[in-house]
Amino acid sequence: DTVVVAVDGPAGSGKSSVSKAVARKLGYAYLDTGAAYRAFAWHAQRAGVELEEQASVVSALPSFELDEATDPDHFFVRVGGTDVTDAIREPAVTGVVSLVARVPDVRAALTAIFRRIASETAAPGIVIEGRDITTVVAPDARVRVLLTASEEVRMGRRSAELTGYSPEAVGEQLKARDRADSRVVDFMTAADGVTTVDSTELNFDETVDAVIAVIQS
Ligand code: C5P
Repeated sequence: DTVVVAVDGPAGSGKSSVSKAVARKLGYAYLDTGAAYRAFAWHAQRAGVELEEQASVVSALPSFELDEATDPDHFFVRVGGTDVTDAIREPAVTGVVSLVARVPDVRAALTAIFRRIASETAAPGIVIEGRDITTVVAPDARVRVLLTASEEVRMGRRSAELTGYSPEAVGEQLKARDRADSRVVDFMTAADGVTTVDSTELNFDETVDAVIAVIQS
């Protein structure tokens, strides 16, 4: 049986890099669900949908062909054959992804994709990270972790990642996205049975070790 490790947390919590490192250390697969939402936002934009209109957003679902890698050492995301690995990190996508992620039909379609990918993995385990993995995508996962960090630390980490933007602008965008996203799913409080790992006072390696300790406990 594949071990499923579900990791949720807000933007800038270090979820992606930590989950990827955990997967690498354990020889597990890695699934970045935020990348899939970003890829769909990229696709919907290109399809010319009205992003504010839920029905219009839904109309882009049938033509959405996602190919997302689950190898933590070779990550890529493709949409209909186009490599969008870098494009989905652009502010143009980050700024609209919450608009598509709030649409129930989009969440249902992507959740089905995530479950299929998890069930098809050949690795002994898979680390799935996002906002609703511990609660919706894989509530029965063997291990469920909520990765948190103070807002100040999260904003600091995110602005260190992005060049060319002021820390204030990065902080405002991150807060606005968390606000929009938390109206759809609660990723700020741990659901029953979910272990919280607070990385505010931890460096990267310590955070990775803390998550691995939860998996091995
Ligand atoms: O984690 P990341 O910042 O890449 O996620 C991008 C966006 O995808 C989030 O802001 C959120 O709107 C959406 N998302 C989601 N559910 C998930 C993962 C991401 O709604 N499980």
